[in-house]
Amino acid sequence: MAQQTRIEAMLDHYSAFMKQFPDIEALAHADEDALMKAWQGLGYYSRARSLRKAAQVCVDQYEAKLPDTRDELLKLPGIGPYTAGAIASIAYNERVAAVDGNVIRVYSRFYDLHDDFFDLKNRKKLEKKVENDLPGTEDISDWNQALMELGARICTPKIARCEDCPLASFCASSTKAHPEELPVKRKKAERRKEEKHVYVWYAIGENHEILLHIRQRPKKGLLAGLYEFDETLPESVYETQNLGEHHHVFSHVEWMMDGTLVHTDPGEGFVPVSRIDQTHSIPSAFMPFYQRAIAQIVPLEHENRGKSLFSMDSALED
Ligand code: SF4
Repeated sequence: MAQQTRIEAMLDHYSAFMKQFPDIEALAHADEDALMKAWQGLGYYSRARSLRKAAQVCVDQYEAKLPDTRDELLKLPGIGPYTAGAIASIAYNERVAAVDGNVIRVYSRFYDLHDDFFDLKNRKKLEKKVENDLPGTEDISDWNQALMELGARICTPKIARCEDCPLASFCASSTKAHPEELPVKRKKAERRKEEKHVYVWYAIGENHEILLHIRQRPKKGLLAGLYEFDETLPESVYETQNLGEHHHVFSHVEWMMDGTLVHTDPGEGFVPVSRIDQTHSIPSAFMPFYQRAIAQIVPLEHENRGKSLFSMDSALED
């Protein structure tokens, strides 16, 4: 969770997730929709799936425990060299490195390295250098955490606080005017821009409940397996309303979105709003349209029928 989000932003998600899946067994047996719902709002949903797959491997092969060496951890889905090194060194005191962006930054500045560490060959060379500097097993956990923290708090991407840095008297960059120029940055590729029209179909069910038409996205690709609204109008249209615009940025693509609320007949694929709230994971890209749709339908239906049709609170909470 913390790899793509600020710690403060993920803490509530973390607590709720741990309550729902308190151990490896529980996670290994998690239902797909429940897992996606618990991950809602954190993005990069494939991480949640990898976490569950890793839990399943732990249950099948490691007596429902996390393996305790880097090499074994690397065999788990979703765990790469950095995570494996971090777990093995911090939790199990194995003498291995954990090289993330923070460590690359500190090393680049400390040794005045001008290589492009996005290049795998250079990165491997750096990892070797970091490995060579490692202390013994008794200090490895503190050492790796100290390097990460130094990069996260003192030697940060935009500001190198050399005056507060315990390494300043040994560091090759501490007397430079702009230590922040390192590490060498790679030019970011332009994100593709896509226009997207979102049609939120709604209907009123037999028991006067509000229904929305949602569908599951393909199992592979962007936002795989999550729920979304339609991109076309339904056959019968009673009324439409504008749901405004939303601009959503992913790592490689930007969606320039606009939304329309469409009143239509109920049918296949319609789900009561109260159920969507509990069990269907709607990604952040579609969330503004979902919330605006509910905010528009509720007063509309109050007006039409003169009575409350469903618990407005539950629909507006999310
Ligand atoms: S002295 Fe400055 S540049 Fe060097 S590691 Fe510390 S903060 Fe970074």
